[in-house]
Amino acid sequence: MLFLSTRGKADLCCSAHAITRGMAGDGGLFVPQKFVALSLDEIIALHNLSYQERAVKILSLFLTDYTEDELKDAADKAYAEAKFGKEPAPVHKVNDNTDTLELWHGPTSAFKDMALQILPQLLTKAIAKTGEQHKIVILTATSGDTGKAALEGFADVEGTEIIVFYPESGVSDIQKQQMVTQQGKNVHVFAVEGNFDDAQTGVKRIFADEELKEEMAAQGCVFSSANSINWGRLVPQIVYYFSAYSDAVAAGRINAGEEINFAVPTGNFGDILAGYYAKQMGLPVHKFICASNSNNVLSDFINTGVYDKRREFKKTISPSMDILVSSNLERLLYSITEEDAEKVSEWMQQLNTEGVYNVGEKFHKKITHDFFGAWVDEQETMETIRRVYNDYSYLLDPHTAVAWRACEKYRLVSSDDRYAVVVSTASPYKFSADVYAALKGEEGLKPFDALHKLHELTEVPVPAKMLQIETMPVLHKEVIATEKMAEAVKNSI
Ligand SMILES: *Cc1c(COP(=O)(O)O)cnc(C)c1O
Repeated sequence: MLFLSTRGKADLCCSAHAITRGMAGDGGLFVPQKFVALSLDEIIALHNLSYQERAVKILSLFLTDYTEDELKDAADKAYAEAKFGKEPAPVHKVNDNTDTLELWHGPTSAFKDMALQILPQLLTKAIAKTGEQHKIVILTATSGDTGKAALEGFADVEGTEIIVFYPESGVSDIQKQQMVTQQGKNVHVFAVEGNFDDAQTGVKRIFADEELKEEMAAQGCVFSSANSINWGRLVPQIVYYFSAYSDAVAAGRINAGEEINFAVPTGNFGDILAGYYAKQMGLPVHKFICASNSNNVLSDFINTGVYDKRREFKKTISPSMDILVSSNLERLLYSITEEDAEKVSEWMQQLNTEGVYNVGEKFHKKITHDFFGAWVDEQETMETIRRVYNDYSYLLDPHTAVAWRACEKYRLVSSDDRYAVVVSTASPYKFSADVYAALKGEEGLKPFDALHKLHELTEVPVPAKMLQIETMPVLHKEVIATEKMAEAVKNSI
C-alpha cells in the first residue's frame, strides 16, 4: 500500500518511508491511498487471537512493505507480557451499558504506550528497508504522556537519539518526575517556557528549518517525529478499536454486527481518528463522542464546523488534552472532502494566518454523521470521578472522566442509550493528587503522598513503574526558552 500527503504535493511513498519521515515534505500528513475493509466474521474472529496477533492482522493491511515476520517480531516485543501484563487492552464492564477500554497497562501508564512501544520497532525496521544511513533523531513536543512514552520506547534503541520538550508548568508532577528520571544513553529531556502549543510550534519550526537540517545531515543525522502525526503511531491505534469490539461481542455485551458508540478523550485527535479509520474499515460504530476539556476547540468544531483557535489556553487537570491546534484533524478533513488536498491546504493556511477556518455546511454535516462533540469543565470532571467511584467502585483518571461525562451528555441530548465504550487513556495514579482531591476534597497534597493515600483508600493496585520513579535520581534539569530549542537540539547531538 502506498501513502500520500494531505496537502497533495508530495510523492507517493511506501509505509517505511512514511514512518521514517514522520511528516510529508509539503507540510502535510501521510494518509493511506485506500482503506482495506474487514468483514464482520474477520472482526469477530479477532477474539480468538492474542493482542499481538490482532495487531499483526491489522498492521499487515497497511504496512504491506513489512514481512509478516517483521510485524510479528514488532508486535511481540512491543506488547510483551513483561511490559503490558497479560492483557494489553482489556475491556472493563462498569455498568449496564458502559464499558471502559483500558489502554494504560503499558510501562508509562498512559495510552501513548500502545503506539510508542511499537513505533521504535517499526522505525528501526523501516530504516533497514529504506537504506537510511543517518542516525534518526526523534524530536517530540509533549503535553505530558507522549514524552515519557517516547522516552521509554526509544531509550537505548540503536541508531536513534530521542529529544523531548515538555512545557515547564503544563504537565502533572508525576508526569514530570517520569520524564526527568528517564535513563538511557540516547535520551535528552528539556523543559520549555510556555505551554504545549509553544513547545509543539517550536518543534514544527525545527522541522521546517532547512539550514539546521543540512547542518544535522553533515553530522550524519536526520530528524523524525514520534508525535501522533506519524503514521507509525496511528496505525497501531486502529487495532484496539477492533479488539474491543470483538471482546464486547464475545462477552455478550452486544450482538455481532450491532453498532456501538465510543467516547474518546481527545487532544491531538489521534486516538479518535484511529477509531474513525476503523469505522471506514467496516467496524460497526454509530457515533464517536469527541470529548474535550475546557480547551473546547474540537468539540466546538464538531458542533459548528468552525475551527477557531483564537481563544485563551487553559491549564486543566487533564493536561494531555490541553491543546488548541489538533494536528491529526487534518486527516479527517482530507477524508470528509473526499481527498481534496487543495481545500485542506487552504484551511490549514487560514488556520496559520487567521487562526480560524470554516468547513461550511456540507462538510460539517458529514462530520456530525460520525461525531458528536461535548466538553466538560474542571468541576464536572472532579464530580464525575467521585460519582463513578461511589456508584461503581471504578476509579477514573481525569481524562477518562472527561470522556465518561461527555458520553453521559451525549446520551442526555440524543436519547441514544446504546452500549458505549469509554476509552480510558491513563491510570488514575498518574494524576493522584487531583483524583484524591476529587474523592476526598483534600487539595494540595504532594504527588506521591496523594498516590499512597489514594491506594490506601481504594486498594486499586499501583502500577509498579510508578512506584519506582518516586526515589529515582533526577537526570534532566534544563529549562529553556522556546527560541533556544534549536540550539538545544544541536547541543544534544
Ligand atoms: C494523549 C492523551 C489524550 C489525547 O489523545 P489524542 O490522540 O491526542 O487525541 C487523552 N488522554 C491521555 C491520558 C493522553 O495521554
